Amino acid sequence: MVAKSGHVGELPKQYDPLTVEAEVKATWEREDTYQLVKRRKSKGKKFYFLDGPPFPSSDTPHIGTSWNKVIKDTVIRYKRSRGFHVRDQPGYDCHGLPIELAIEQKFGVKSKKEIQGFGLERFIIECRKFAETNAAAMTHAFADLGIWMDWNKPYMTHEDYYIECDWWGLKRASEKGLLTHGLRVVHWCPRCETVLSDYEVTLAYTSLRDPSIYVKFPIVDRPKEFILIWTTTPWTLPSNVGVMVNPNFEYAKVKCGDETYILAKERVNAVQTETGQSFQILETFPGTKLEGLRYKPPLESLVPAQRNLPSAHRVVLSSEYVTLTEGTGCVHTAPGHGEEDYEVGERTHLPVLMLVDDQGKFVSEAGKYAGRSVRDANPEIIEDLKALGFLLHAGEIEHRSPVCWRCKTPLIIRATKQWLIQITQMKNQFMSAVDSTLWIPEWAGANQFKNWLQGLKDWVISRQRFWGTPLPVWTCTACGKNRIVGSRKELLDNAVSNVDLPTLHRPWVDAVRLRCECGGEMTRVEDVIDVWFESGGASLACLGYPANASDAKFWWPADFIVEGRDQISAWFFGLLRHGMVTMGRCPYKTVLMHGFALDSEGREMHKSLGNYVSASEVTRKLGRDAFRYYVLQTTLWEDLQFSWDAIRQYQGDLSTIWNTYVFASTYMSLDKYAPGKLPINRLRSSLRAEDRWLLSRTHRTIKEVTTSMDEYKIHEAVRKIKTFLVEDLSHTYVRYIRRRTWVEKQSRDKLAAYATLYLALKTALILLTPITPFLTESIYQHMLRGAEPKHPESVHLLDWPKAESKWISDPLEEEMKNAQKLLSTIAELRLKKGLKQRQPVPQILVTSSSGTVKKATKTYSDLLRDQANSRKLKLVSKSSASKLTDSERFASSDFGDGTIFLDLKLTKSELAEGLARDVVRRMQQMRKEMDLKVDSFVHAYIIAPSPNEAGLLNSQRRYIAGEVRAKEIRIATGDMKVQQPYYTKRWQIGETTFEFGLCEASKLNKKPVATKG
Ligand SMILES: [Zn+2]
Ligand SMILES: [Zn+2]
Repeated sequence: MVAKSGHVGELPKQYDPLTVEAEVKATWEREDTYQLVKRRKSKGKKFYFLDGPPFPSSDTPHIGTSWNKVIKDTVIRYKRSRGFHVRDQPGYDCHGLPIELAIEQKFGVKSKKEIQGFGLERFIIECRKFAETNAAAMTHAFADLGIWMDWNKPYMTHEDYYIECDWWGLKRASEKGLLTHGLRVVHWCPRCETVLSDYEVTLAYTSLRDPSIYVKFPIVDRPKEFILIWTTTPWTLPSNVGVMVNPNFEYAKVKCGDETYILAKERVNAVQTETGQSFQILETFPGTKLEGLRYKPPLESLVPAQRNLPSAHRVVLSSEYVTLTEGTGCVHTAPGHGEEDYEVGERTHLPVLMLVDDQGKFVSEAGKYAGRSVRDANPEIIEDLKALGFLLHAGEIEHRSPVCWRCKTPLIIRATKQWLIQITQMKNQFMSAVDSTLWIPEWAGANQFKNWLQGLKDWVISRQRFWGTPLPVWTCTACGKNRIVGSRKELLDNAVSNVDLPTLHRPWVDAVRLRCECGGEMTRVEDVIDVWFESGGASLACLGYPANASDAKFWWPADFIVEGRDQISAWFFGLLRHGMVTMGRCPYKTVLMHGFALDSEGREMHKSLGNYVSASEVTRKLGRDAFRYYVLQTTLWEDLQFSWDAIRQYQGDLSTIWNTYVFASTYMSLDKYAPGKLPINRLRSSLRAEDRWLLSRTHRTIKEVTTSMDEYKIHEAVRKIKTFLVEDLSHTYVRYIRRRTWVEKQSRDKLAAYATLYLALKTALILLTPITPFLTESIYQHMLRGAEPKHPESVHLLDWPKAESKWISDPLEEEMKNAQKLLSTIAELRLKKGLKQRQPVPQILVTSSSGTVKKATKTYSDLLRDQANSRKLKLVSKSSASKLTDSERFASSDFGDGTIFLDLKLTKSELAEGLARDVVRRMQQMRKEMDLKVDSFVHAYIIAPSPNEAGLLNSQRRYIAGEVRAKEIRIATGDMKVQQPYYTKRWQIGETTFEFGLCEASKLNKKPVATKG
């Protein structure tokens, strides 16, 4: 953009984010700045950032994903700036059900069976194409946002090297004796025909109307005596094998007509109310007395599987799963359809009956119900119970039930044989791994993650689907032995015949047969692996492990991960499980957890809700930096409630910041200011108190921002940089030094102000680079790059500044706060008295008992006088002030630590100066309207309403001319006839009207043409 000029350059006056960003982006692309920065910053200590891979299930990232990537980019840029050698590979989670479903929909495939008809090979090719196309589109969107990651080489979980790492991980689990094949009760989607993970089950719920029935289980050899149970899933009754009661509860035998029922005493009233029956309690006894009581299964006559189960249909005890909040205290138990039932059934040796197939239909052993979908069979089962005389009451209940997060089919629970990794026994090691990890915020680990780990269960890793890492288990058709294959090489070395294997995916891998030790042939178990096992292995797989061990040796474990709060039970958990199983440790050292991106009312953003905003919509309207700055100031672990108003406000900050640089750039470039010639250390004797104050603020800001960034509290860093740039610099220091920068000659005083301002601005710019990389690059290229000979090609190559404690002064900053308090009190007092800020006053007196206020009036005496626009500002004793309080001449105001006295008696000279300042302000306004360069000269005239004003202004002629850069000023009264090209305007000042005319000197050849009319 700008060649090396040797001095501060000129920054465009207007901040137009879209132009700025387009220009910077083009420069980065042209000069390959990302690679340049990466190359130069690769010598320091390693910093392994691990990207949590998004699902490429759509081509545009959600705004929350864009926020997530902005946080990552900010950390990466910061760490590079600090000299770390950063690993910045992004990733995509390419396998899984969402992609399979998208392909099913695209081709109108409706079931798992139809996929076979469609052709598995074709199906897999389509899944791959879909994942890769979307990943490429998301890459484009992220790169466009200014995310500097290695977009040429993202890790993709469907690539063979990645699959090989999954296989290695599973083989490792097997070698440790952790991989088993066994019966587990799982949540199952009957449409997708696969098991779902616990995390997936939490993703979608819906309100369902289900039956609520009270059923009588007839007690063996005790006619008309029944155990009363309650259930909302009649379809599980064909699989009933027991009844649970609580050994600690009191149970009752009640009379109802000519029958007697057994139920918990505490539930008697509630059940009477709900069933509309009336019970008479005959006797009560503890739950323990019921243990072993045998009953006849009510559906025995219709369901063959219910017959001949000698160890079933009896009462068992459970203190943990029988409650008094609903039902009868006697719980129908079907271990094939409930985790708790399974657990209790295993302990009490009940058999497992499971009469439901993969599609959620009853199998032939279910007799009358065979072939029916389970939920559809409910009414028929209720009718049958009624006809058999076992139904006491049937009602309905509405409750929230989990549905498949992809296809919205209600899930069922069923016992199936699955492959799993046993980890329950490692709970203590998991807990201590959390303790040795740095969690931000701390409670995310100490509370949320540990709470989740309390329910640690064995990891069911098999899925009955297609587009995933194939489970590397081969089983011998002759002897039944299993073999876990750990790599492609192992597979090919043991294959029965030579095979052509274009990828390790199904269906190609299914065709590979292995030779068993027994001489038989082994075929692959058809399952694929849980995608959470894949992403859980990302820390190793993306390094090419185990084929490439040296990279892992250098980088592993990951130093830093950051994801949203939903990942507690997902990726944070998956990584930990995989790390503990394969390497015996947690694969990450630091976790940052952020919130969700919601709409302004706190609802999730979805296209279907009509409240969806994409990051690209924001950046197209307001710019990438505004988006980044806005999302990064949000307290990271809280939810972001997206609001257009708020983001516009934050964009306003960026304009303020830009204007501060414009101010400095305008004067410094005009003066060809070269900061290297006279650095701040050689100007120390010329620094004013406010300069030293700003230097103190600068170094304190470096110190604090560095701490915040090191602690990953990015929002704190953003707020501190904002305070420094907007409050300290724009609203304060720039105002204080305005007059010093206008001075023509290069005095040491002016250079001290320049050097201070330059240092503060350059420092703040570097601190801001990770937050708003475009704006900072643009300012750097236009204004700063040429100013110092050693400046590198990009602002992102500058090193992070170091805080120098010698510049930090608590008293200077404390006294400045007090000085500002005095100034605001004076300003309020002026307002109250109708005295303009521009009107000088002869003196201001201050009384105070505070030592800091007293010191402030000394330290900042010049600044106070100047800013308060007073000839004198004095500290006086209370006694001498008390004489003034009655005086008409003084106005006073209390400021907490003392009192201000404002002298209202204005002399002619003060009046003249006040009027002159009014004139100057308006003429400067006119210069702006004429779009004059700051250094161009003008000719001016003033028509005053009376000789009095003309006289006052005449005495200020030199001052006015200096301020408005006028070569000549004519002052007159009465009417004037003015020829072009003067720009003229009439102004009301106080009670009277003036007319001013300005003309650019270079455009005026003739003498001024204002003549008396
Ligand atoms: Zn489904
Ligand atoms: Zn064998």
